[in-house]
Amino acid sequence: MSGIIGHLTYAILGRQAVLEKAPQIAQLIDEHLDSYLAGAYFGADIMTLPGGRCIVCGGEYGYGGNHPDRCPEDHIPLHPYTLTFDGVSYRPQIIHRMFYGRSHLLFGWQREQAKFRLEWSQLPDYFEAVVADTFNFYRRPERRVAYVMGWISHVIGDALIKSIQPGLDLYLLNGTYTSQNRPIQDLFSFHHFGRTECQIDWANLMFNLTETPVESVQAHFMRLTQPCGQLAEKFPEGWLPQHKQLLYVVMGENRRYQKIRTPRLLQQLELDPITQSCDSELSRITGGLVFEEMMRMAEAAKFRQTLTYIGESVGKFLFSSYSKQ
Ligand SMILES: [Zn+2]
Ligand SMILES: [Zn+2]
Repeated sequence: MSGIIGHLTYAILGRQAVLEKAPQIAQLIDEHLDSYLAGAYFGADIMTLPGGRCIVCGGEYGYGGNHPDRCPEDHIPLHPYTLTFDGVSYRPQIIHRMFYGRSHLLFGWQREQAKFRLEWSQLPDYFEAVVADTFNFYRRPERRVAYVMGWISHVIGDALIKSIQPGLDLYLLNGTYTSQNRPIQDLFSFHHFGRTECQIDWANLMFNLTETPVESVQAHFMRLTQPCGQLAEKFPEGWLPQHKQLLYVVMGENRRYQKIRTPRLLQQLELDPITQSCDSELSRITGGLVFEEMMRMAEAAKFRQTLTYIGESVGKFLFSSYSKQ
């Protein structure tokens, strides 16, 4: 399933939430919307890589190193995907271990890096330093700032929906965020929020964000450069410049693989034009619910209010990160 629908939804809601209080932020986002949305996904989920590759048709499948046993096209066993850089091959699980905590800040740090984990209360300082540095480092910073703001929406959205930070009062099917209720969240966000409420052209938006450039500022906010700027003054620990080039290669792969995934995800989220039923695999994951039952359940659980809460939280962090500019 697709974390991307949820993260784009939080980002769009964050932009709506900041519109009245700080129209200049909303304007900057609107001028670089593709990069804002790219930051909202690729800015953090660096494990957006295949799981396996078919040596017959060349197809790549799976996510983050996990994959089906066989190619869905020709039923040949898949070979594990690896990314090779500078003579070293990396499985996506290794990339995840190396980088995930650095982009999510609050969780996901592995073993010896666990001491670099941040508290929620430290986020405003961290984000403000990154935005200030982005304005200072680049001659034309706006697109990069939009990307950074997208990444901020991801950090906040993930922390709330995964209950790393308390605040959400959501019980949908069997919990707040579970593998069984994710199809309900995605289908509601895709159809009700995205199409009905916001007239979003998901295909267009999801294609465009994969076309955005790899942003070097990501190595800065993941502390994978030489320590520099206000970020290094406020957060002197945890800098690891030797993996910067690897990150750039990973970010290119993230965009390349998402282009392959996007049509599959769009197809899976589409409803049957005649019966209005959803993909049978999505129904199976939820324990056999049909689309209408899922939407009724989301409404009863006040999922739309949950989205509003996440959006407003994102908006507050966007506002504070930019307040000294
Ligand atoms: Zn994430
Ligand atoms: Zn194949």
